[in-house]
Amino acid sequence: MALVVQKYGGTSVGDIERIKNVASRVIATKKQGHDVVVVVSAMAGETDKLIRLAQQVTPNPDERELDVLISTGEQVSIALLAIALKSMGYDAKSYLGFQIKIATDSVFGKARIMDIQKERIRNDLKENRVVVVAGFQGIDESNNITTLGRGGSDTSAVAIAAALEADVCEIYTDVDGVYTTDPNICEKARKLSKISYDEMLEMASLGAKVLQIRSVEFAKKYNVPIHVRSSFNDNPGTLVCKEDREMERVVVSGVTYNKNEAKIEIMHVPDVPGIAAKLFKPIADANIVVDMIIQTSSTEKGFADVAFTVPKSDFSKTLQIVKSSLKEIGGKEINADENIAKVSIVGVGMRSHSSVAAQMFSALAKEGINIHMISTSEIKISCIIDAKYTELAVRALHDAFGLDKPEVTEER
Ligand code: ADP
Ligand code: ASP
Ligand code: MG
Repeated sequence: MALVVQKYGGTSVGDIERIKNVASRVIATKKQGHDVVVVVSAMAGETDKLIRLAQQVTPNPDERELDVLISTGEQVSIALLAIALKSMGYDAKSYLGFQIKIATDSVFGKARIMDIQKERIRNDLKENRVVVVAGFQGIDESNNITTLGRGGSDTSAVAIAAALEADVCEIYTDVDGVYTTDPNICEKARKLSKISYDEMLEMASLGAKVLQIRSVEFAKKYNVPIHVRSSFNDNPGTLVCKEDREMERVVVSGVTYNKNEAKIEIMHVPDVPGIAAKLFKPIADANIVVDMIIQTSSTEKGFADVAFTVPKSDFSKTLQIVKSSLKEIGGKEINADENIAKVSIVGVGMRSHSSVAAQMFSALAKEGINIHMISTSEIKISCIIDAKYTELAVRALHDAFGLDKPEVTEER
């Protein structure tokens, strides 16, 4: 008998038929003799709908109240699933984050899980009950409701699996595993049978939204195996686990894209020590994560142009901060561009191969795609391009690195 944590995403609980299908899957796992804790997301589209409602009131809604609002989507789906399970003859109980006590910090909209109380879940499991937990939410020290960032139910599930020392965390979604790139935009995408935590971390942080990055961080830290599978079929999925010898030995293992960033360019700032700190400290203090940064010499000596990217959700807040910083430090004008995308190639095998970047740039050049910014690390290369070329770029890179068929190199 094992302890299995299963997470079902928005599409998997998108309507009543699908919720009944989820209940049947949970029951099938129970029938195999396992204990099951289920984490669910809001029904597909619900969280977006709630955000739009708040934005109809004001473009920048209060963050505490926004979390109170957007956490409600999951309350509906947990209750419906528990009702379905009971109607099918299985005992179940649904819980909101605060009832379990999923304790988080107080960063509304992107809170981090600090601790999970296990007692209530353990007691229910002892009573042979299915425990259904709302994903995406928690409670802070002052009893405020918090949410964990978009896609946060993945993190709720893996954190619960880690706390309970579950045997596996199964993430059920609308694709049947982790692919070499998003299968919904590249038909040649190939399913990986296994992927290491490190590669998955990189893919998730660069936009592969099949798993939220923090869920992979938890999995790696607490060594929780994640099995990504489809809730619509029984195909074997992808195992996310420690790097091992059976994994494919490739240079590039995946292509990702992210359309959720925006670029801010500040022209003509004084090129003196301390300017970057003055510019970026207030942004960091507002819990905004800056991704790429490029500083180039301005046409006039003694001045520089600075460009950087931030999540679109933090775009207007960042602009406000930058405008007020510029009053102090100087700077001629701010250009903002929301129509950008970041395309990246990822692979631990890149560590030992030098020509990968050049190969990436020529693949993009061949399609006439201009690169605005570049950033590299040991195991990834990212380029900022115009958003309208995203799909074209992803397919071109997937082809250029032959990802539709595994290319085997000597040693990892
Ligand atoms: P859920 O609602 O179940 O959490 P998400 O929409 O958050 O589902 O994540 C699943 C989606 O992730 C897929 O439909 C797919 O479009 C996208 N995706 C992006 N990159 C990848 C990848 N490399 N492999 C699989 N899916 C990917
Ligand atoms: N419902 C939340 C969202 O849409 C959390 C999740 O689906 O994981 O982002
Ligand atoms: Mg998701």
